[in-house]
Amino acid sequence: MYKILIVEDSRIQADLIRQEVQSRGKLVPVVSNTFSDAKIQLQTHAGEFFAALLDINLPDAPHGEVVDLVITHGIPAIVFTGEFSEGFRGRMIAKRVVDYVIKGDRNSIPPVVSLVERLIRNRTTKVLVVDDSRSARSMITDLLSLHKFHVLEAENGAKALEVLTQHPDIRLVITDYNMPQMDGFELTREIRRRHDKSQLAIIGLSSHNDHMLSARFLKRGANDFITKPFLIEEFFLRVGQNVEIIEHIHALKGAAMKDFLTGLPNRRHFMEEGTKLHVHALSGTITLIAGTVDVDFFKKVNDTYGHEAGDQVLKMVAATMAGVAGSNDLLARIGGEEFAILLVNQDIEKATGFFERLRETVESLVIPHHHETLRVTISIGVSTSSGSSLAYMLDQADQKLYDAKRNGRNRVEIV
Ligand code: GH3
Ligand code: MG
Ligand code: MG
Repeated sequence: MYKILIVEDSRIQADLIRQEVQSRGKLVPVVSNTFSDAKIQLQTHAGEFFAALLDINLPDAPHGEVVDLVITHGIPAIVFTGEFSEGFRGRMIAKRVVDYVIKGDRNSIPPVVSLVERLIRNRTTKVLVVDDSRSARSMITDLLSLHKFHVLEAENGAKALEVLTQHPDIRLVITDYNMPQMDGFELTREIRRRHDKSQLAIIGLSSHNDHMLSARFLKRGANDFITKPFLIEEFFLRVGQNVEIIEHIHALKGAAMKDFLTGLPNRRHFMEEGTKLHVHALSGTITLIAGTVDVDFFKKVNDTYGHEAGDQVLKMVAATMAGVAGSNDLLARIGGEEFAILLVNQDIEKATGFFERLRETVESLVIPHHHETLRVTISIGVSTSSGSSLAYMLDQADQKLYDAKRNGRNRVEIV
């Protein structure tokens, strides 16, 4: 949960902002209608606010004093103003506010709250700034820090590639063109050999007096460019847009590989990753053991307690198995009440112990349902030789699973 301080003397406006903040789930609004009350809130909840949404004109503080107050507490501030002027803009930027918004209709509020959510995500979003000039680098780093990004720096292309290797989860690279050793073009081309445009965004910095630079950055695979000198509003818009596109693509890819009900990898993911592992198994670099798991008499759970209870059971069985499996094991839901597991580099004895433990843990699971409790068991078939393909392995495991069912269920059978 993130506490958001809202300081606004208009009750109607304060209420609109509060409702929007509340609607976002993870955000908790705390409203002050005056400067003096805001002071008290900041004292009472010292260190608890993640961000503040501030009205610049308050009856007891008509000159934006609340902005200074909040910023001295180290809280990111977004400012609402009734009227805009160049002078106002300059003052807000000098005060280091995150953004300023012209008060208008209620449509201006949701983007502001989205920006707060963006700041929360930014803290885990890694951005790499590449520039040989220390002052240029720290200028950009400073701006990114204002929006709470996790910023990394490099003084040339070669260093940047090292940082990228150490932090493969970098989402955005902002690079200058003219640098010793490896310039921005070469760096862009090198990055594109490893990461495509949907994995990692690159923004090239080009200078006002060379218009060709931006086109050349784009040709080498940059997603975007910013011409220096720039307005910080433009800088944040471009950075924000590029980061968001990358995040959307990651989320889509993640969703396509995940089973919606249990959150485990789905069949497609299992087959894709499993096939890659199987190639290594065939060449002898790793060994694989495959298990297929099926919940016993699951139809009866649905018939007796309803489909929703059945879903709950599947979720808990999945979570339980995920708890038993190690981080190197590939566990997935491959069908209705069927799961599959690939164990990497485990000997048969250890694997047998693992599957027994899996069976026992599910057997001892107590699943609450209204005023009752449910229990289920699983049967497991295991194939210990990789054979010619992953499909063959799974087929072998399935035959053993069938044996486990025939031999009384709640059992492990191994071939
Ligand atoms: P066995 O011990 O032989 O495996 O018996 P079983 O009842 O578990 O096997 P069966 O294949 O006859 O029934 C599986 C049931 O799983 C049928 C289907 O409706 C149910 N099922 C499949 N997917 C889901 C799901 O996502 N949620 C729920 N609640 N039920 C599901
Ligand atoms: Mg079943
Ligand atoms: Mg089944």
